[in-house]
Amino acid sequence: MTILRLAIPSPLRRLFDYLPPSDVDNALLEPGIRVLVPFGKRDVIGILVEVTNTSDFSINKLKHAKQLLDSEPPLPQHLFKLARWAASYYQHPEGDALQHAIPVLLRKGQSCEYQHETLWRAKEGANTDTLKANALRQIELLALLIEHPQGISEDAIRAEGGNTQSLKALEKKELIESFHREHKTDYGQVLREAPLTLNNEQKSTLEQINKPKGFAVSLIEGITGSGKTEVYLQAIEKVLNEDKQALVLVPEIGLTPQTVTRFQQRFNVPIAALHSNLTDRQRLDAWLQAREGVARIIIGTRSAIFTPLSHPGIIIIDEEHDPSFKQQDGFRYSARDIAVMRARAEETPIVLGSATPSLETLHNAIEGRYQWLKMTQRAGNSAPPAFKLLDIRQEKLSEGLSKQLITAIGQHLNNGTQVLVFLNRRGFSPTLTCNDCGWIADCTRCDAHMTLHRSPPHLHCHHCDKQQGIPQRCPECNSDQLQPVGVGTERSEQTLKHLFPDHPVIRVDRDSTQRKNAMHDIMDKVNTGDPCILVGTQMLAKGHHFPKVTLVAIINADSGLFSADFRGMERTAQLILQVAGRAGRADHPGSVMMQTYHAEHPTLQTLVEHGYSAFAQEELHNRRIAQLPPYTHYALLRAETTTKYRAESFLSALRQQLEDDMLLPHGVHWIGPFPSPMEKRAGMHRAQLMIYAENRKNLHQLLANLCWYLEQNKEARKVRWSIDVDPADTF
Ligand SMILES: [Zn+2]
Ligand SMILES: [Zn+2]
Ligand SMILES: [Zn+2]
Repeated sequence: MTILRLAIPSPLRRLFDYLPPSDVDNALLEPGIRVLVPFGKRDVIGILVEVTNTSDFSINKLKHAKQLLDSEPPLPQHLFKLARWAASYYQHPEGDALQHAIPVLLRKGQSCEYQHETLWRAKEGANTDTLKANALRQIELLALLIEHPQGISEDAIRAEGGNTQSLKALEKKELIESFHREHKTDYGQVLREAPLTLNNEQKSTLEQINKPKGFAVSLIEGITGSGKTEVYLQAIEKVLNEDKQALVLVPEIGLTPQTVTRFQQRFNVPIAALHSNLTDRQRLDAWLQAREGVARIIIGTRSAIFTPLSHPGIIIIDEEHDPSFKQQDGFRYSARDIAVMRARAEETPIVLGSATPSLETLHNAIEGRYQWLKMTQRAGNSAPPAFKLLDIRQEKLSEGLSKQLITAIGQHLNNGTQVLVFLNRRGFSPTLTCNDCGWIADCTRCDAHMTLHRSPPHLHCHHCDKQQGIPQRCPECNSDQLQPVGVGTERSEQTLKHLFPDHPVIRVDRDSTQRKNAMHDIMDKVNTGDPCILVGTQMLAKGHHFPKVTLVAIINADSGLFSADFRGMERTAQLILQVAGRAGRADHPGSVMMQTYHAEHPTLQTLVEHGYSAFAQEELHNRRIAQLPPYTHYALLRAETTTKYRAESFLSALRQQLEDDMLLPHGVHWIGPFPSPMEKRAGMHRAQLMIYAENRKNLHQLLANLCWYLEQNKEARKVRWSIDVDPADTF
């Protein structure tokens, strides 16, 4: 009896048994292939996990699968195993996790055969003179093809303004022809441009990365401007010369055209960029190019971690501390942590790079599990920025800016350089209030204020996305004395324009960069080098280089020092230093001024005076005393219900039940349940139970019990619950 055990996309944490399609050759039943099966009233695509000969169900109740969709598995066995491991580690239903590991079109049943790209070229001797003078589109198209004898794709033709009609017409006239690009493995020179000369620090870092054979994790802790990227590029060059591939992961916000261009300028090999603007088809093509070994460098964000490579050579995780590597909903995996497991399975080196490494990664480096490579000098001899705290407790601010700061901004502009003003709130102001009765514009669906926007005018909740018009009068007392409170980027932009009318003020936040190419236009303006003020959110802190900025002004970063989240301090420190790192690159010495109400805060002092390493050491010490990660292992059980208190009482009952049944392994501890820091969000009431253990195995044993309990529990079906292992934040 042959039984197929399948992982099917469903919220259930179990596998499903089927009989093979009636006339199938058993040799084709390889774990990892996609299988079309009837499921309830529909057909779904499952993934074959194992072939067995027993079932917990009676054989005559099992249905036949309809069709095998693959002759070989889309994922190589080791990645298939890795995805299964990740499902169990992150306590996520296996069917859903496995779907995550493959592109959308494969989840929908498309073929995963690699299609050689179809290109067009002019036939020998083709000449535009043979076309009628008024057939302008055909003439242009033919000229374009003559210019590109190696052939160009239909996509590229359309991008140049050509259309299918002209293409067909020229083909009919036998002036052009289509062909498939050969599966090229030999590109001649790997390099398109010469590598930069490395300073001693870069040189020894590169040597250390290249030294070990096979699997090794290296942490490059390099200050902003120390030239980490050049080290990555030269490590990749070595791998390419060995005919292998490189997988590079960058944070969501860091995958800009600038990043990709940097790789394209350096290397003469096909590069696949897996970013969010791709169509499903383009994404699948890029994925297949990686799997077939056609693409030699793969750059992507979090979800690219499961991209198969035919010749894996190295994995690089840039800005490894960035929270975007951890998925925050659904399959809550950490791409960085999975990357380390992947490199181990593929026996390749992996490099984690950051100016401000996460405390988890630093801890691994301190314990000797990771090779710890420090880069403390700026490449090209530029001096690190001078850091100054501005105590604003006694100050009367004008629209959030202190006098000292305004003066400094003016000086830098007069010197002909650029200024960056960082403010971590978009919109005009964080809220609107009534001066007469104290009413505040709150979101009805969240425990949060509505943000006031001026262009276009509206109130916006940044937690649930609810939007509404601005009331003319107070809904409580009918007064017309409604006032914006606090400063967001829009308001700051307005103030700065008013204060410095002779200089452009450029706002950079999610609202101002929505339009396609908006960021590109902004960079063009900044790259002219003319004095200007950039005002914006953390978008400014990541991925972009502003060589002419000499002053970074940080307006309101210190609120994060008092966050309820134990990672609040770490994140604040990282953000401050990432923003500060924008100042004084290239040959312009820079300075950083940070306004604060807590100038005497010891952690802030350490950070400013002694830098990130000193801060991290102190913070690790605090974490050890408080029994927090990385010294313990955490998971968060979250519950959401539409009625208040219900989530919390559900979690209390669950905790009680597990304790009564003595299912709490030794060394596992509970905290809570508590209402979540933002109790109500998008209409749901939320509570959470924190679970931690010194020993990871004990934690995972409990989580497995917990899942089993929850799936049996009738009450649990009325609650939306989720488990977050190694949570990136505790909200
Ligand atoms: Zn009022
Ligand atoms: Zn908004
Ligand atoms: Zn809301």
